Amino acid sequence: MTEVSKILQDSHGRDHAYLRISLIERCNLRCTYCMPEEGVKLSPKSSLMTYEEIYEIAKTFVDNGVTKIRLTGGEPLIRKDIPIILEKLATLPVELSITSNAVIIDKYIDVLKANGVNKINVSLDSLDEGKFKHITRRHEFKKVYNNILLLVKEGFTLKVNAVLMKGFNENEIIDFINFTKDLPVSVRFIEFMPFDGNKWDMSKMISYAEVMRYVHDAFAEDEVERLQDAPNDTSKNYRIKGYQGSFAIISSVTNPFCDSCNRLRLTANGQLKNCLFSSTESDLLTTLRAGKPIEPVIQKAVWAKLKVRGGMDTLKKLQEPELHTNNRSMTAIGG
Ligand code: SAM
Repeated sequence: MTEVSKILQDSHGRDHAYLRISLIERCNLRCTYCMPEEGVKLSPKSSLMTYEEIYEIAKTFVDNGVTKIRLTGGEPLIRKDIPIILEKLATLPVELSITSNAVIIDKYIDVLKANGVNKINVSLDSLDEGKFKHITRRHEFKKVYNNILLLVKEGFTLKVNAVLMKGFNENEIIDFINFTKDLPVSVRFIEFMPFDGNKWDMSKMISYAEVMRYVHDAFAEDEVERLQDAPNDTSKNYRIKGYQGSFAIISSVTNPFCDSCNRLRLTANGQLKNCLFSSTESDLLTTLRAGKPIEPVIQKAVWAKLKVRGGMDTLKKLQEPELHTNNRSMTAIGG
């Protein structure tokens, strides 16, 4: 089926053909902006989806028109049965991709290739080893950096995600752009977003407009090319003339892209989130385990999706802590 069925259409007329599935809540890094220092309360193992359940739920979405599935987490590659999950999902008629911190991705090159995964998003918030250690609370910079080079060499299409934070890595914006000079990767600057326990405040965020000020200070106007964004793209894409790669900004805070949002999220414990910022969830896993059809639950959840950012339609609302403390941290949602 190529057309998105009614159950994946919301009350604002948006069709949802893209499902992000979180495979695990745990992670082998401890990024300060993603996980609170004390860690997150993990769901009991028995309430996490098994690979059979992941397949079954994914298949229902695909039967109803989902054409893209991205696996995420936590860190999806630390799930032991990742090869089986990939194998099962690769039997579905979807574009399968993955978001990873790339710490151990070198061990999975063959598995990824064998299952048709060729688009990979890797998170890397600093090109400086010391800063990387500071933000991730782990010493894995060299592995991640070398694995990025390896993935490019192996022919994967690569996006490198960097969350920008004031006073931390904003001075690396141009270094990241220059990283795309000889490497065919897209570096995507992500505006820092509020989630439970990440001590977000607007003043820590570097906005789309600020990124572009750095860019225009460093490059002449005619060197900066605005690229055509893909349909439903969350990012605004640019290239420096003559560079092999490109860069982009994901401006969920200052310039949300909700009108064209086609995404749904399934957490590792089988809860459907209709928006990253939504504080409500719909329990697909309990329904599935009770032997009941999950389509009605999906339909109700999708229909209820709010027009903008889970109801936080203004910057003022986004800054009201009680509105986002009901949301999980990013590692527990699946970024
Ligand atoms: N472990 C994988 C990784 O590191 O890419 C996948 C999960 S991680 C939660 C997915 C993405 O969410 C990463 O690119 C991370 O930078 C982003 N992220 C987490 N917390 C965020 C926040 N508060 N604001 C913006 N992006 C965030």
